[in-house]
Amino acid sequence: MILRYLSERDRHVSAEGLFGALKRRGEDLSLSTVYLNLGVLARAGLLREFAGAGGEALYDSNVRDHYHLICRETGEVRDVPVPLVDGMSLGAFLQAYVERVTGWQVEEPSVTLRGRAPDDGGSEAS
Ligand SMILES: [Zn+2]
Repeated sequence: MILRYLSERDRHVSAEGLFGALKRRGEDLSLSTVYLNLGVLARAGLLREFAGAGGEALYDSNVRDHYHLICRETGEVRDVPVPLVDGMSLGAFLQAYVERVTGWQVEEPSVTLRGRAPDDGGSEAS
């Protein structure tokens, strides 16, 4: 039921938001069931977990490579395509660069952009 809802289109949802949406559809389930299943689906790679504007856990039904642009005021999340730098994704480029200059082994390069959305909502990025 959760996967079906999330697969209808690309969505960014919190556990509470998803719980409310499923309840409005007449589904009978508890918030703890939603939390439990979101965790299982994220660990299985079917959802991607990330931190929202207030640090809250959000879940993304789009697991293809992309970055998030997050508005600090409204919490709006916009998907941004991954730019290429020297023929590799920005994340892979950053990973190689940071490993070269620090000697660290970077296991999880991720890029999140936080800021403020324009009042008119801005142009579509993808
Ligand atoms: Zn996304």
